[in-house]
Amino acid sequence: MSTSTTNPVVYGSCYCQKTTYATTAPLYGLTYCYCRMCRLLHGSPFAAFTNVDSSHFRWTRSDRLVEINLSKYATRTICGECRSPMTMVYHAKPNEVGIVAVTVDESKSKDQVPEKVEAHIFLECKPAWFVIPEDGGERSMGILERMRGVVPEGL
Ligand SMILES: [Zn+2]
Ligand SMILES: [Zn+2]
Repeated sequence: MSTSTTNPVVYGSCYCQKTTYATTAPLYGLTYCYCRMCRLLHGSPFAAFTNVDSSHFRWTRSDRLVEINLSKYATRTICGECRSPMTMVYHAKPNEVGIVAVTVDESKSKDQVPEKVEAHIFLECKPAWFVIPEDGGERSMGILERMRGVVPEGL
């Protein structure tokens, strides 16, 4: 285990600022998930996630943090005060934290956040009225091919 005291490079928070986090490594991967759960929890046609290794993630304010388990595959967190979705961690991949991308404070996290979407997943659940832009992102029904076998399908 590393004992280095690396300074944070990414900062994030919920809407009300009662739940905050920092990471000591740049974020990688940017995925838009169109699954039904993400759409309804986020009130949006998709939810955008970006990732960091869990050893580089820490909550800096978490007394209002609430864990929710809506499927047997992943644990999500929200701010118990303002209800902003914060993170999602697959039980099969506990060393990676999926950060809800909109929670990142970009003004304090310069050049540490991916700028291009890597993949659109669970496209079979996408609402017909939302048209995906031609952004070069991989398009996948269900989870990504390379995640199959790591994460069970059908979340
Ligand atoms: Zn909050
Ligand atoms: Zn989803």
